[in-house]
Amino acid sequence: MEGSHTEAGGPRLVIHGVRGSTPTGGTDTARYGGHTICMSVDDGAGRVLILDLGTGLRNLQADLPPRSDGYVFDVFLTHYHWDHLQGLPFFLPIYDASNRFTFHGYGWEGMGVEELIAGTFRPPWFPVALADTAAEKEYVALNGDPIRVGDLTVSWTRLNHPQGVTAYRIDGPNSSIVVATDHEAGDPEFDEALSVLGQGADVLIHDAQYTDGEYELHYEGWGHSTWTHAVEAAQATGVGRMVLISHDPSHSDDAVDAIVEDARRSFAHLDAAYEGMAIPL
Ligand SMILES: [Zn+2]
Repeated sequence: MEGSHTEAGGPRLVIHGVRGSTPTGGTDTARYGGHTICMSVDDGAGRVLILDLGTGLRNLQADLPPRSDGYVFDVFLTHYHWDHLQGLPFFLPIYDASNRFTFHGYGWEGMGVEELIAGTFRPPWFPVALADTAAEKEYVALNGDPIRVGDLTVSWTRLNHPQGVTAYRIDGPNSSIVVATDHEAGDPEFDEALSVLGQGADVLIHDAQYTDGEYELHYEGWGHSTWTHAVEAAQATGVGRMVLISHDPSHSDDAVDAIVEDARRSFAHLDAAYEGMAIPL
């Protein structure tokens, strides 16, 4: 049950998956966790906001007690790369007719949200097609005004990643969190958009997949940032706290520790995301 429910202090965003690109097994990534990106806010009364559907969705599933009258899920997708969708076919609530899902996201090159999610959720890539699952489903293309989900308000902007990516801001009753994963900093227009989205927010969860050395050597243009980029974004938005996410699959727990140690010299209130981390909203 760790981190799944509203407490006296208000809702919390719980991080269920932290890894970029592909899940990692093995003992040397067990401390931060090997699941790909997924986070949620559970109101404890049957309404759950989910941000991305990576394999971390397995951890959320373990946290959800059975409900006879079902759950209402609002899913916000940053983009449609495999590592952000791969958990959905293995998420048992999608097969239960008492549950309702609303999927929010951007279209891409004429494809709508449903088509983009269903692309690999169908035979022969998976035995069942998304359209044949029992839960009630609705697909919403993002545009215009922010969306209310219970006592949360969700707003967004588009950032820099192959095929595009959406950064979200979740404003809760006590605090506000911006999630900018799978964003490559360095394009002034996108960096400014993130800075505008994050003005007045409390926490920035930002992609920090690479070290500066790795980025310069191999990964410029791959769609991810370094911890230096992340710290610059935090300083531009003026947030008080920052959380690094999208840990590279080749980075052991010790390597992530080293990144945190380096980054804290530039931004003191900084942590690396781990599975089960809960941030007040
Ligand atoms: Zn991606």
